[in-house]
Amino acid sequence: MKVSKYLRGSGRFLAFIFAASVLWLLFDMAALRLSITDANGEHGKERVLKDRELAKKIDLNPSNMKQDVETSKRSEMLKRLAYKRKKPDGIHGENEVFPNSKNGNIVTRTFPKLAAGSDLKVQVDTKLLNTSNKVSSGSKGVNVKKEVLPQTKAPSAGQQGKDIKLEFNGKKDYRIPQQIPPQDFQIPQDVALSNKSDHMLKKQVKSDSSNNAPPKQEHVVQQKIVLSENKSSLVRVKTTAKPAQLHLNGSNIQTGKLLNSTKSVTKQGALHKVMNLDVTLKPRDVNAPGQFGWAAEVPQYSLEESRRRWSEGYFNVFLSEQIPVDRAIPDTRPSACAEKLVHDYLPTTSVIFCFVDEVWSTLLRSVHSVLNRSPPHLLKEIILVDDCSTKDYLKDKLDAYMSQFPKVRIIRLKERHGLIRARLAGAAEAKGDVLTFLDSHIECNVGWLEPLLDRVYLDRRKVACPVIEVINDKDMSYVMVDNFQRGIFKWPLVFGWSTLTDDFIRKNHIKVSDPLRCPVMAGGLFSIDRNYFYELGGYDPGLDVWGGENMEISFKIWMCGGEIEIIPCSRVGHIFRGENPYKFPKDRQKTVERNLARVAEVWLDEYKEIFYGHGYLHLLNKNVIDIGDLTEQNQLRQKLQCKSFKWYVENVYPELEAPLAKAEGLVFNLGTRKCLVQEKGSLSFGMCDLSKQSQHFSYSWVRLLRQNASCVSPQVTGGGLTLEPCDNTKPHLRWLHKTNKLLAEHLIAETSFQRLCLEAGPNGNSIHLKACDESSSYQKWQFTHYYSQ
Ligand code: UDP
Ligand code: MN
Repeated sequence: MKVSKYLRGSGRFLAFIFAASVLWLLFDMAALRLSITDANGEHGKERVLKDRELAKKIDLNPSNMKQDVETSKRSEMLKRLAYKRKKPDGIHGENEVFPNSKNGNIVTRTFPKLAAGSDLKVQVDTKLLNTSNKVSSGSKGVNVKKEVLPQTKAPSAGQQGKDIKLEFNGKKDYRIPQQIPPQDFQIPQDVALSNKSDHMLKKQVKSDSSNNAPPKQEHVVQQKIVLSENKSSLVRVKTTAKPAQLHLNGSNIQTGKLLNSTKSVTKQGALHKVMNLDVTLKPRDVNAPGQFGWAAEVPQYSLEESRRRWSEGYFNVFLSEQIPVDRAIPDTRPSACAEKLVHDYLPTTSVIFCFVDEVWSTLLRSVHSVLNRSPPHLLKEIILVDDCSTKDYLKDKLDAYMSQFPKVRIIRLKERHGLIRARLAGAAEAKGDVLTFLDSHIECNVGWLEPLLDRVYLDRRKVACPVIEVINDKDMSYVMVDNFQRGIFKWPLVFGWSTLTDDFIRKNHIKVSDPLRCPVMAGGLFSIDRNYFYELGGYDPGLDVWGGENMEISFKIWMCGGEIEIIPCSRVGHIFRGENPYKFPKDRQKTVERNLARVAEVWLDEYKEIFYGHGYLHLLNKNVIDIGDLTEQNQLRQKLQCKSFKWYVENVYPELEAPLAKAEGLVFNLGTRKCLVQEKGSLSFGMCDLSKQSQHFSYSWVRLLRQNASCVSPQVTGGGLTLEPCDNTKPHLRWLHKTNKLLAEHLIAETSFQRLCLEAGPNGNSIHLKACDESSSYQKWQFTHYYSQ
């Protein structure tokens, strides 16, 4: 009775709405269930069968194929995670360089850093738990990854040898003949290599039962590959074009609008979707700290220990040790990457890790991530270059551990050479077609390798860099970074990241998965054709320890006919550290400064003055610093017929502010209201007239007051002035202008003991030096244009 009372009138209507909603919800849930079952069932089954078929066909290591079957389980777990997209600290828009905490303004090579104390815990968004197929993209906020379905197709033959023709199952492949290294390339004499091939140790390592023990894996590649493709698609022709003739596909390099994406590059050949091989698809211990790239937490009772051990690596070494060396990490690639095609017959790569006193757990995790997530047939070898580490665990224990992986080789340098020469030593030993350099505290993400190799394959002068993601130094979580970031620099050659503007992205129709051309690379992680690396002369072996080498190789690549790209479908996590955990044999600052000066001298042409003018004038004094011999580097630049730095600025990095002088034009005296004139080697005054070349001066970055090759030279003893041939290395030619608040408009002779300023005689009939007087308008000067304050 009571119920029927409520079902009268409007009550009846409400009840109807309620019942309808419940029914609707039930239908909806059933439909969702069906679609999930379908995804995991029919579709999944079909995929697994396809993979098995493929595995049979190409006879690859079946254990790898098995991993694909597990993908759906793993992605099921991973898709539940909502990863906060974290923008590296300090990046706010185009051309903004994030600050460097290492060493004031001298650091040139730094990766994105996260703000201290930033909350990087991976968050689970409960709202998204049941909406597995929903993808919210966009550069900010929550991002849920689409389920990744591995699509494997006949992979390429990984075999390579000294001959041009190789046989696979009776069919022929044509490959670049091996030339390592070319005759005229020598690694520096003083790079001493030990003869011991430690990787050959056959001692079997017992895997302990701790989290860090890796699962037993076989990395065996069988080269029996059935080739069904058209033979012509396999031909890889070595490019012999001179750098000047290089056709840069897909870029309008001539017009200066270079930094659009490189899209329309094509090469004949069969294609397949990027392989999602990942041995960690089914983690051994889903509850292990840091599993799936989640933030790990230090238990209360270990806080002290974790703090104490921080300086072993300048990140949370304690936590890193708790995290499995083969942990799973989230697939952070843009969803379009799963659909991207790469060529079947890609070149092989040697992965080179240089390290000095690297933390055990991170070194291992780096190596495991490569072994676990690289198609075995493309991974020729992993070369570990020990740059004369001092830690015991990096000697016999490391040899023993790595001996279980036939592909891993260890090279030991007898003395400390720094990362630049260590990389050269690794490259000299490498046998893969492509060199892939990685830092020794990274984690390669799923599908990281093929997209890099594909770019190099498309054009051997393309140098491909993965997106560098962040392994948080405090909680070791794997954090994805914003898209559309490219490597840039600001004066004085300070590396940073800059995000393309929305406007630029829209106008150029740039997709999130498109390769981005990049003025400079961060330096630590990239793939480069081995022969091309040698053609470029590798790195300047005169660079010491660390710093500046990323600028050197970047300028060299661009100016000598190559390209640098960031490949969004290739992602590698890196621990960004606040300090270098290793010692610099010489002073750190001096080492980096010296490296930069070498780079500036060889590559920057007239622009090097801008570098020196940003706090590095002291580097011009040969008594203070010896930057070493540059003959070979200059000869190399000539031999390669590299373009000018002006070309680089105009075509590769037009956003760079690079005026060649601080100020220029007429030099107007406020007292006389006349302008400075230089005629027949002497200075005088005249009525200001912009059309007269004799009145045109410039105030250079190294503070010279110059007209063409003549510089105004203060005679501090007699108070007079002369004209001298300009010479950037001579401090007595320098003038201070706009540097002192009270004497901003004055021109102060830099080397004068008591402050002497340039002064015009009252009628404009003389010019001399006088003790500086803040208020005297005869000591105040203005240039027509100022380009920098
Ligand atoms: N490295 C080296 N010798 C050195 C300095 C660095 O082998 O003298 C290695 C280091 O272990 C690391 C890589 O070079 O794997 C890059 O150095 P780091 O990570 O310190 O550079 P960052 O990432 O801070 O720029
Ligand atoms: Mn590093």
